[in-house]
Amino acid sequence: MKIAVLPGDGIGTEIVAEAVKVLGALDLKFEMETALVGGAAYEAYGHPLPEATLKLAKEADAVLFGAVGDWKYDKLERSLRPEQAILGLRKNLGLFANFRPAICYEQLVDASSLKPELVAGLDILIIRELTGDIYFGQPRGRRIATDGHFPGTEEAFDTMRYSRPEIERIAHVAFQAARKRSGRVTSVDKANVLETFQFWKDVVTEVGQQYPDVQLDHMYVDNAAMQLVRAPKKFDVVVTGNIFGDILSDEAAMLTGSIGMLPSASLNSSSQGLYEPSHGSAPDIAGKGIANPLATILSAAMMLRFSLKQPAAADRIEAAVKSVLTQGLRTADIFSAGTRQVNTQEMGAAVVKAL
Ligand code: NAD
Repeated sequence: MKIAVLPGDGIGTEIVAEAVKVLGALDLKFEMETALVGGAAYEAYGHPLPEATLKLAKEADAVLFGAVGDWKYDKLERSLRPEQAILGLRKNLGLFANFRPAICYEQLVDASSLKPELVAGLDILIIRELTGDIYFGQPRGRRIATDGHFPGTEEAFDTMRYSRPEIERIAHVAFQAARKRSGRVTSVDKANVLETFQFWKDVVTEVGQQYPDVQLDHMYVDNAAMQLVRAPKKFDVVVTGNIFGDILSDEAAMLTGSIGMLPSASLNSSSQGLYEPSHGSAPDIAGKGIANPLATILSAAMMLRFSLKQPAAADRIEAAVKSVLTQGLRTADIFSAGTRQVNTQEMGAAVVKAL
């Protein structure tokens, strides 16, 4: 089992170190190799995704990724910015299916911004298409407008597009995931306004006919954004495109108390995957040793389950995380009265001890 470890920037190095410790405490043998990515790789090699890093990621069974980015790179040309590394990895590894479970642990109900009764027991799975949509569609750019409201002035444009196979494969992923859960899928679109998402809705409906045991509903994205904070427990599996999934999954993150608790998995068609916390590099707290490592540790558990086929080890890590929460240990982002505040390393060590 070969794991490419790409800590990245900011808190990425701090939280990945804890996840690596947790993996090391399992009675399994891994080959782990670390490489630079993001701003750190730009500083060393002049590119956020150097060839050697990409090669390592391609050859590994799974990639354990921290986070990339820092405000200081905002002035770099787009192709050299740290965030391009993650887009490059998704594209080169064909990681089209992004799984973001949003689980509200009973111990953290009070850390949510919603009332406890709305989030207690919350367990939803957002499946976001990751390699298409307006984030990758061509053409894109800036030009002088020849039509529109202000011809002759500067304008910028992106292209929203989805092909049938792209929608079909993510729909299959969602229906199959729903079969292992409560058997319900909500497909989120904007079919009332966008041609791309009327097509999305039509294709998801067609694929759904192959899964008569799964209940399929459709919801417009604006309504979904509202329902997620009104009655989030009504959802089970949510499947949507790249841009809507980006926004809704961060919204769902806050329901769980902190983005520092949310793991994610991005998979290709051969179960090779990239595993990372849903949050970014948090430059505001980098180097302070206070970042929550649990999202990354839970991402390592997803890696064991999906790419390395070690479900028992994944269960053990998830149980260890629950155990430290039950013991009342909290990093600053999930701290509340009556609990004990710990730093990043103490939290990692507590998970290892619980294992
Ligand atoms: P962010 O997720 O890094 O931080 C948002 C807020 O959440 C900050 O206040 C931060 O301190 C807090 N936070 C995030 N993770 C935390 C953790 N584990 N423990 C405690 N608190 C945590 O988002 P941002 O500030 O908008 O972006 C910072 C940088 O990260 C930018 O350069 C952005 O482009 C990049 N980014 C990278 C990824 C990625 O690598 N996949 C994802 C999102 C943002």
